[in-house]
Amino acid sequence: MNVKDVKLSAEQWVALLQKYGVPASSLIGKGAPCPICGGNDRFTYDNNRGRGDWVCRKCNDGDRKAGDGFELICKSAGMTFRELMIELEGASLVDARQNRAQPAAPAPGRKVDPEWARKRLDSMWDRATLIGADGLVPRYLRERVPGLTVAPSAALRMAMLDYRHEKKVIGQWPGILARFTLPDGRLGTLHRTFLERSKPAKASILTNDGEILPAKLNDVTLNKLNGGAVRLMDPVDGEIGVAEGLETAYAAHMLSGVPVWYCLNRILLADFVVPDGLGIRVVHIFADFDAVDPRTGKSPGVDAALKLAKRLRAEGYTAIVHRPKKRETDFADEWSASQAAHRPAFEMSVRREQRKALHV
Ligand SMILES: [Zn+2]
Repeated sequence: MNVKDVKLSAEQWVALLQKYGVPASSLIGKGAPCPICGGNDRFTYDNNRGRGDWVCRKCNDGDRKAGDGFELICKSAGMTFRELMIELEGASLVDARQNRAQPAAPAPGRKVDPEWARKRLDSMWDRATLIGADGLVPRYLRERVPGLTVAPSAALRMAMLDYRHEKKVIGQWPGILARFTLPDGRLGTLHRTFLERSKPAKASILTNDGEILPAKLNDVTLNKLNGGAVRLMDPVDGEIGVAEGLETAYAAHMLSGVPVWYCLNRILLADFVVPDGLGIRVVHIFADFDAVDPRTGKSPGVDAALKLAKRLRAEGYTAIVHRPKKRETDFADEWSASQAAHRPAFEMSVRREQRKALHV
């Protein structure tokens, strides 16, 4: 994509900048805090050449600096220009026209108004960008599932996401939005995986007190989740697989060739319901081989898979349970191990590096 070809209206620039986390309060056309270097009133957004233009009195090592909207996004969101261009290539410049404000998150514990929840989730999904072949999300997935070769899933999108903790937004991270769909096709929730801004890894999110917060969270629940799944791929020849998580689903797909969905956790895996109308007759269940719970004497992941298999068989489906070979692993571990085993040259070079490091 040639950046000079990108022509955005004033509204589209504001929407795009906000989408990447530039606060609306800095885009008012007069002195405001700088999204890059802070302060109170050093930054002015004027869009005077129609390129998302801005001026900051301090951004050039304490001196005045002017720049365009792309530079503002890269510097404030910690992205490289190339990463940004890769993300923008595709849907986002079109999506940026939909300048709808994202409703604020509810206070925890408050009962959610369904109409409000639907608007919030629809708005998040509409504003999110499609996942290309080479953006942050596919790079993250290939990091977790080495050698992953799949078409981008229509059930996954990428967005800049607010992280809320104790009623406050404590930061924004890029993240994967996964569409959790109920058997009748209704939306259950959007599941979010927060990622580091500049490397393909799960975000480390800490409170000021150093408490580690989860990088994977559901957004509000619109409809009760039991029965549903994230439909990563289309069933093939009446067969589908189900797993607990995104990475295990992709790894199970790489190992088996079966299209795989995921249910988010073992409770929802055990509750999975085969949707009508897709011709599914065979369900492959890819269990996490968790350590045995001393209270029950069972591996919780395997137990959930067996429960699901029993119910599906009673409903007339063919259900096949797959379990990783090693205890306390999942299929993401099994796939990574199989990939490592096929890369002896790489392994040797790593060992050589380690030896070298030891001898220095
Ligand atoms: Zn500045």
